[in-house]
Amino acid sequence: MAVLPIRISGDPVLHTPASPVAVIDDELRALVADMFETMDAAPGVGLAGPQVGVPLRLFVFSYTEDTGDEDTGDDDDTRTLREYRGVAINPELFITPTSVEPADPDTESEGCLSFPGERFPLVRGEAAILRATDLDGRPYEIEAEGWLARIFQHEFDHLDGLLYVDRIDPVYAKVARKIERKKGWGVPGLAWLPGVDELDA
Ligand code: ZN
Repeated sequence: MAVLPIRISGDPVLHTPASPVAVIDDELRALVADMFETMDAAPGVGLAGPQVGVPLRLFVFSYTEDTGDEDTGDDDDTRTLREYRGVAINPELFITPTSVEPADPDTESEGCLSFPGERFPLVRGEAAILRATDLDGRPYEIEAEGWLARIFQHEFDHLDGLLYVDRIDPVYAKVARKIERKKGWGVPGLAWLPGVDELDA
């Protein structure tokens, strides 16, 4: 197992659609183990193949959902934590339509390990259904809402060669481009190594 370098915006692998996983073998199992280790070290809630330089359609995710029951107004005894952690191989994603309202910077800002240390608001579909295959080749489905649905949409975009900064409103995109220039990103071959490189957030 090893922590892998995470590619930074500008590397071609991040901006090119990935190919389907053809076979689940020892090599792929080792890659997935390394991706989990890298995601945890970053730390992050998701990591896609292209982010570690592997142009294949798979991502790992790890997110603990706080399912507080808002209806009762008494969230002490109804609150439960549910952990979602897994690998999505050759995923499909079905997304509810996005709101036409502008993104709320307080509740809808996301970040990306390939655009490290920054966050920008982005409207996402409130719910999503993920269909994918696990490491044993078994198909599964997760119905996601809220932040988990956002994570799935973010990671799925990586497989199509899209970063979330490609989707943000022009006013934020301008800031993102400025940051990218200032940090010397936007060129091939840049990466950072969790646990070694400091993030100047
Ligand atoms: Zn990302």
